[in-house]
Amino acid sequence: MTIFLVDSHCHLDFPDFETERPALVERAKAAGVGLMVTISTYVTKVERLTAITDQFAEVYSSIGTHPHNAAAEPEASVAELVALSRAEKCVAIGEAGLDYHYDKAPRDVQARVFRNHIAAARETQLPLVIHARDADEDMRRILEEESGKGAFPFLLHCFSSGRDLARTGLDLGGTLSFSGILTFKTSQTIRDVAAAAPLDRILVETDAPYLAPPPHRGKRNEPAYVRQTAQVLADVRGVDLTAIAEATSDNFFRLFSKVPDPRRAASAA
Ligand SMILES: [Zn+2]
Ligand SMILES: [Zn+2]
Repeated sequence: MTIFLVDSHCHLDFPDFETERPALVERAKAAGVGLMVTISTYVTKVERLTAITDQFAEVYSSIGTHPHNAAAEPEASVAELVALSRAEKCVAIGEAGLDYHYDKAPRDVQARVFRNHIAAARETQLPLVIHARDADEDMRRILEEESGKGAFPFLLHCFSSGRDLARTGLDLGGTLSFSGILTFKTSQTIRDVAAAAPLDRILVETDAPYLAPPPHRGKRNEPAYVRQTAQVLADVRGVDLTAIAEATSDNFFRLFSKVPDPRRAASAA
């Protein structure tokens, strides 16, 4: 039985993968992972992503400044983000957001840069990939304020926040994306959120090279391993892997509306 999974969030431009991207994409496809989005962390390094998306038909990209880098690179204006998002294989804005765990940039700078990304997502209607860590209260407040100014599509990537932020995100029309964290023993709250979320609002991702699920935990992660996370998501929802693959891929193509769905091309052939 063939399945089609999407790794909605990985970092293929990181040096971890420098020498073996073709093999990694092949291993992903062999595991049923037919599409990947390599996520931007520096607007100024966009050409690293373009080089990869030019090389692999199955890989798409985003444009944005990670909250860790919010003070390290010049602040991208809304107009710049919108212009860069017009590239053919750029299909999302971000990742952007708030990270109070590491606090690598001042919080007011993180918030300002994040709001620029929200405005770009609102204008383009491309999905905003949100990074939120240990910042639940401010994240909820900003999402509510900004949604009040006009809707924008978004997802909470690598969901590891509390139930209240999950509820706010879902109430505002957002999607929750689950990474290898879902599979860790200590993650019962996240599994509870994943079990209760509407079936049409969930995605899977690796966030590779980070957060490898068992049996690879502690080692480098890669897109093929999104299958382990999808299996755990299927288990917590009491369905089989095929059903989760179909639902999460349907959700991906609905949210990342710029990406053509290769499953349709296959069934039409
Ligand atoms: Zn992130
Ligand atoms: Zn990431």
